[in-house]
Amino acid sequence: MKTLLKNALVVTMNANEEVYSEGSVLVEDDKISKIGHFELKEDVDEVIDCKGKIIMPGLVNTHVHTSQQLGRGLGDDVNLLTWLHDRIWPYESNMTEEDSYVSTLACCLEQIKCGCTAFAEPGGQYVSGMARGVAEAGVRAKLAKSVMDCGEGLPEVWQKTTEEELDKQEEDLKKFHNTHDGRVQVWFGLRTIFNCTDDLIVRSKELADKYNVGLHMHVAEVKDEVEYMQATRGEWTVTHLNKLGVLDKNFLAVHTVWLTNEEVEMFRDHQVKVSHNPAAAMRVLGFAKVPRMLREGICVTIGTDGAPSNNRMDMVDEMYLTSLIHKGWRLEPDVVKAQEILRMATINGAKALMDEELYGSLEVGKKADLIVINPDSAGMLPLHDPVANLVTSMHSSNVESTMCDGKWLMKDRIVLSLNEEEVLAAAKEHAAAIRSRAGIELPDRFPVVYPMSSK
Ligand SMILES: [Zn+2]
Repeated sequence: MKTLLKNALVVTMNANEEVYSEGSVLVEDDKISKIGHFELKEDVDEVIDCKGKIIMPGLVNTHVHTSQQLGRGLGDDVNLLTWLHDRIWPYESNMTEEDSYVSTLACCLEQIKCGCTAFAEPGGQYVSGMARGVAEAGVRAKLAKSVMDCGEGLPEVWQKTTEEELDKQEEDLKKFHNTHDGRVQVWFGLRTIFNCTDDLIVRSKELADKYNVGLHMHVAEVKDEVEYMQATRGEWTVTHLNKLGVLDKNFLAVHTVWLTNEEVEMFRDHQVKVSHNPAAAMRVLGFAKVPRMLREGICVTIGTDGAPSNNRMDMVDEMYLTSLIHKGWRLEPDVVKAQEILRMATINGAKALMDEELYGSLEVGKKADLIVINPDSAGMLPLHDPVANLVTSMHSSNVESTMCDGKWLMKDRIVLSLNEEEVLAAAKEHAAAIRSRAGIELPDRFPVVYPMSSK
């Protein structure tokens, strides 16, 4: 199967960050076989004229909770403890394997519509359900279990020993890792340092190394966490992880808000990958030292976090927020520039997912993971600075088509890999059932007027 996309502004994100004006991309099966300006004599199966459009690598979301997709709206305008104990723990601990599958389908649907072709999922309860959803949706994912072996107040179904947590992850990895043409992969997960013993952390890292996969962990996300670490271990989270010897190039550290400058250097020295989630940061966590991390050459990437923490699982929105948040808190309008943000959302994301040889840039021999942007809209035109405008003025509705592994997952805004209507109907049904099983009550915040007949 050969597809030629021609006449586009092709933003490659290769090592020289070349952009081709009126460029073309030839896709052969799952790979890019030609890119740039070339004459094509051979016949192809499909030719798409992309005049006035932009082709760029598929976006990489380095932190998205697929299992929380059906919990969107459950955590608005509440403090962290209410969010966790009264909303999210009851919600997640009442999910079934089928719920996890439906939640993943709904999340993948949103990823595809927002131009994301690969993501890292930090941990739900059922890797089997998530794997099924990702396989069907046609995207790529690094899936992990939500792993905890200590901590007070956890729902009973989550009270596991270190051995149980490690065994289950190894079992999932053996079953699902590298399946579906390699699109579905399994990583090791650690929820947070509040709920993980040192023994679990060290042994998870050993297993991640053994299987040559990554380790995904929420790190130094709230002030309470570093205060808890100071009180119980006498040092902040990252210093402690460094002492345990787990900081490494296959360690994906999420949020990383509460770090000293010395801890930023620890990340740099061990080539730790950082997932920056600006919406979640603004909502509850605080401001990560992203400008400093970028200056130090740390591989910073972007993630959306889960639906109850952000509501929008949209990497296009998240690029935009990344462009604003650091300018705002530092009062420096020239930090974290558009080209740095495009790098974070593409090639850096692929590096963090340990897949920079496969995708994250458009290059001959790499996988055909790409998106076609149609900027012809009131919200995006004109394009005085077209590449920067992908960060500063693009909306996800401008993503016209999404291709992963050489297959169209969405074309002209029609999702092809999933039945959108069926996924949304299932999402509504399952979300209501989980909430009712979990007994989650939301306060009446607005006076609702019902028709007389419904009394
Ligand atoms: Zn998270």
